[in-house]
Amino acid sequence: MALTHAVQSGQPIIPLFIMDDLFQSYGAAPKWRLGLGLEHLARSFEKLSSKLILRRGDAESVLTEVIQETAATSVVWNRLYEPKTRERDSKIKETLTARGITVQSFAGMVMFEPWTVATGGGSYYRVYTPFWKSVRGRDVKAALAAPARIASPEAWPKSDPLEAWTLGRAMNRGAAIVRPFICLGEEEAQKRLQAFIDNDVADYKELRDIPALAATSGLSENLAYGEISPAQCWHAGQSALYAGAPGAETFLKEIVWREFAYHLMYHTPHILSENWKRDWDAFPWNTDEMHPHVVAWKQGRTGVPFVDAAMRELYVTGRMHNRGRMIVASYLTKHLMCHWKIGQKWFEDCLVDWDPASNAMGWQWSSGSGPDATPYFRVFNAETQLLKFDPKSSYIHRWIAELSAAPPSSAENFFKAIPKHWNLSSNMGYGEPIVNMSLGRARALEAYQNRSF
Ligand SMILES: Cc1cc2nc3c(=O)[nH]c(=O)nc-3n(C[C@H](O)[C@H](O)[C@H](O)COP(=O)(O)OP(=O)(O)OC[C@H]3O[C@@H](n4cnc5c(N)ncnc54)[C@H](O)[C@@H]3O)c2cc1C
Repeated sequence: MALTHAVQSGQPIIPLFIMDDLFQSYGAAPKWRLGLGLEHLARSFEKLSSKLILRRGDAESVLTEVIQETAATSVVWNRLYEPKTRERDSKIKETLTARGITVQSFAGMVMFEPWTVATGGGSYYRVYTPFWKSVRGRDVKAALAAPARIASPEAWPKSDPLEAWTLGRAMNRGAAIVRPFICLGEEEAQKRLQAFIDNDVADYKELRDIPALAATSGLSENLAYGEISPAQCWHAGQSALYAGAPGAETFLKEIVWREFAYHLMYHTPHILSENWKRDWDAFPWNTDEMHPHVVAWKQGRTGVPFVDAAMRELYVTGRMHNRGRMIVASYLTKHLMCHWKIGQKWFEDCLVDWDPASNAMGWQWSSGSGPDATPYFRVFNAETQLLKFDPKSSYIHRWIAELSAAPPSSAENFFKAIPKHWNLSSNMGYGEPIVNMSLGRARALEAYQNRSF
């Protein structure tokens, strides 16, 4: 939207990405994935005889420099909604406007901007279903066509070499293992959406919970980096719905879960860092990140196959099936009684589709401390979940080498991706559960019953 607006102005355009402290603070996998995305985006601009300028530093200072260097008169961007980003962008808007620069921001990251959706009483929504009901009939603007030409300035300002930013440094040897699972850039994202609509959306409602199948869209990664817009997913889903695909409505509902996450983050930003329900501050979570149970959870060796398979899938692919995310989150916060923030942080470090709003909502939903959360006393049983969602143990065998006589490369790759200092190998044998499933459940429920709120 911002780019189209700039192109329509007929003025020369300087595409600029600023690597500021907010991006610097990204976890290992999202930062690496950001680097891949930028490299791809730079090539896309080059195809249009344009150029992506890369600069590092404080966003306002860098913008000021580039404006001085190029005599630019107007700045545009698409809006982001995290509290720190909003604060940064509002300040930039104010400062540049005061200096006589025209500044405009546009929607694009979400379909329904958070301040445009309100309950009858004028408040924000705390529960998903009424939120869904209030937006499902709305018109969503169709995505704009990508520009065919971008006017260049007479001289380009200087740009950092992307390699100098070493965005993939913290991935170490994991990068080579995760790379084949990455779907990069707009064209690939469009193909992915089309393939999903052609092949999978019809059965999405039934099959989306089976982690051994590739029955979901896989688009979260592209949505996270703006390589596809939710509006494009929405219109494709609507067309499939009108064409009679039975699973399309469920897909639309999932896209709206993402919108709901942004709605909550905007109206209650503390969802990112604090218990959404404040009385949960009194709950006796374990907050020790070095606790052996936490280490075993991160390393996929809790002795609970569904949990371990999902944690290893995360390490090898940079993604985790939604059913796995719910199970590992429930297990960490209930069976192991560890604080959801530990899991949130680990996902933030490992997910290539990391999204601050969906991640925070997912963790607080799972732990019971969030809005519209699963109640704490509803504890996922990873063993019965396995029988229901992976009855042939295909998912388990795909990811846990120790459980197969001839493990597939996917399972072996886990040991190639993990840091050497974990000192793990596939011939160490598969351990017993670190916590007895029934006892863990009983302990969590007892703590819940004895809570002081
Ligand atoms: C503990 C936990 C942490 C999570 N962390 C993230 C995260 O960091 N980034 C992220 O994108 N999603 C997160 N999710 C939500 C969900 O697991 C992923 O969006 C989904 O697995 C992505 O796969 P997909 O693109 O194939 O989804 P599909 O099933 O194809 O769904 C289509 C799109 O709908 C949206 N969506 C689907 N389910 C959810 C959901 N529960 N919440 C919000 N949006 C949803 C996503 O944008 C997704 O791409 C988390 C869920 C949990 C329980």
